[in-house]
Amino acid sequence: MAEQESLEFGKADFVLLDCVTMEDFMANLKLRFEKGRIYTYIGEVVVSVNPYTQMELYGKAVIENYRGRELYERPPHLYAIADAAYKAMKRRAKDTCIVISGESGAGKTEASKYIMQYIAAITNPNQRAEVERVKNVLLKSNCVLESFGNAKTNRNDNSSRFGKYMDINFDFKGDPTGGHINNYLLEKSRVLKQYQGERNFHSFYQLILGAPDQLLSTLHVCKDPALYQFTMEGATSNSLTNDKSNFKAVVDAMQVIGFSQEEIGSIHRILAAILHLGNMSFVEDGDTAEIEDKDLIYYIAELTSTEPDCLLRTLLHRTVATGGGDVIEKGHNVKDASYARDAFAKAIYERLFCWIVGRINNVIEVKNYDARIHGKNTVIGVLDIYGFEIFENNSFEQFCINYCNEKLQQLFIELILRQEQEEYQREGIEWQQIEYFNNQIIVDLVEQPHKGVIAILDEACLTVGDVTDIMFLDSMNMKLCTHPHYTSRKLKPIDKSMAFNRDFRIRHYAGDVTYSVEGFIDKNKDTLFQDFKRLMYNSADPVLRDMWPEGKLSITEVTRRPLTAATLFKNSMVALVENLACKEPYYVRCIKPNEVKSPVLFDDERCRHQVEYLGLLENVRVRRAGFAYRQPYDRFLLRYKMTCEYTWPNHLMATDRDATKAIIDQHGFQDDVAYGLTKVFIRTPQTLFTLEYERAQ
Ligand code: ATP
Ligand code: MG
Repeated sequence: MAEQESLEFGKADFVLLDCVTMEDFMANLKLRFEKGRIYTYIGEVVVSVNPYTQMELYGKAVIENYRGRELYERPPHLYAIADAAYKAMKRRAKDTCIVISGESGAGKTEASKYIMQYIAAITNPNQRAEVERVKNVLLKSNCVLESFGNAKTNRNDNSSRFGKYMDINFDFKGDPTGGHINNYLLEKSRVLKQYQGERNFHSFYQLILGAPDQLLSTLHVCKDPALYQFTMEGATSNSLTNDKSNFKAVVDAMQVIGFSQEEIGSIHRILAAILHLGNMSFVEDGDTAEIEDKDLIYYIAELTSTEPDCLLRTLLHRTVATGGGDVIEKGHNVKDASYARDAFAKAIYERLFCWIVGRINNVIEVKNYDARIHGKNTVIGVLDIYGFEIFENNSFEQFCINYCNEKLQQLFIELILRQEQEEYQREGIEWQQIEYFNNQIIVDLVEQPHKGVIAILDEACLTVGDVTDIMFLDSMNMKLCTHPHYTSRKLKPIDKSMAFNRDFRIRHYAGDVTYSVEGFIDKNKDTLFQDFKRLMYNSADPVLRDMWPEGKLSITEVTRRPLTAATLFKNSMVALVENLACKEPYYVRCIKPNEVKSPVLFDDERCRHQVEYLGLLENVRVRRAGFAYRQPYDRFLLRYKMTCEYTWPNHLMATDRDATKAIIDQHGFQDDVAYGLTKVFIRTPQTLFTLEYERAQ
């Protein structure tokens, strides 16, 4: 049993608790955190508490200690779970995935990096050059993605503002041959505006503070983030990140990955163009808008390799197709022009981010040709995705993120049950299914065709004319009023100045969340006028052009409405869950011990809430309802043979199973044990306690 000998550090597996109550669970979690034991198991799930300090827990020597070991032979660790996933993949040719969840700042991204570091360290013993290249790209991709997708928030100085799923492909030798990254819902509204004390994406500050002077001058960018609307807020909030040195690190990483000099140049120009766009303001000129600072047009045109005239026209007008097939140009007023500029800035950044992900994928994707050469191809997937969010104000983004968590919880229920069941079946052991809350009803509330929140939202967005958020809310109230997990009518307006209620509430599995409908329609439509797409597609910069393929359509050719943001997100979640469902899952559940990034503070209430919504107690109960522990016969013997005269020092029985039976019988545990084909199953932790005790005598 992992670390059983050192009980002063608490139980290394929650399954071993004497009673499964919240109090006992929390006491064990706290004790372990205080003793620097940040990892604890629930069977094969790792519960991790962010230590907020560098621990002596990682690195080469520790990796060696975990390599090829079984979970319970070493203290709980991410390395052990990484090794388990790797072994399953290698020995049993199973595709596996490691799902890392937890709220912002709980340590998901750090955990995913340790897992990748472990896999990189234990593979490619023969130093094959191609495998080294792939490993290098996989490791370096973190640095680039964090630059463009992470930002300082009030909860985390290096918060991932996108969801990430990375597949690592392995050949028959168990060496990485490639990979693929999927990204989900980048928080692009951050490009425009940040809450007080927060920053824009790191990439902007790295450019402003880290780029050589000569580069900055060609970009017309000054070395001061306070001069740019989009980076102003972050300019004053001090950050721990070292933007200057990180600029260089990111450029180096891009070079290692294989970005060309031209591509890196384009990326910098695009970032600069976005900064200039942010400083552009409009003034009223009769009915239409004019640009205040004309220099900006020249800068942006130069940086995006477009004609200043075209750029100007696109910023101030839009083309519309009339009923008769004609095309007319319509001038924007100041409000529309500002809206269009913001939509443009967000869209360019989002496209840039997706393009970078695509570019990395290009380099590491296993080509059909390679797969044929290498034969078998198995996969370990690592998912690092936003946790459940309940803020003071919850909007469209939180709605999407929380829906994502409902989907993942659904998968967790499915897989944990299924995995247990399958193992019992495989080993020929009987067991009774246990019941627990199934959140399918909430998933349906959100995603059901016609009746779900997303369908109602899409319908509202399709309505011709000015549809307001309130109309969307009314429509939901009508269709969902009897749903047990939806409320709205009964909610009182939070702000008394509001004439009527703008909120709706969903009872999520993790708790009630009240969403404000404000902005739902707009964010879901995510309108960007076709003119901008055409402008970008006609850019002389091949990178920009590559990002905007649909820009080649003229206004009269655009027939289909693009899918809405919520539907795109839903589709990507459905695909993600389908992908994960066919893999053998391993879970890391991250917990954030306090709000102040302290290595010594364990905030009982905050932790308890996380334990609740991660469903950890239920997890322990499920695990205990069946057989808490199972071990292959040979491993069991190795550990406990000294507790029985018939097996020490070596047994003479026909099989390891018989020898195991001899030990169990000698201790009188017959009723607590079942014998599978390859493993012994032990129902109660007490049995293991006793064996561990005997062993130590
Ligand atoms: P978000 O959802 O905002 O992206 P996250 O769960 O990915 O949050 P991380 O960025 O992984 O959180 O962790 C936040 C910070 O906590 C890290 O920058 C680091 O300072 C600290 N931290 C997390 N895990 C560890 C660890 N194992 N050892 C030391 N420090 C850690
Ligand atoms: Mg993160």
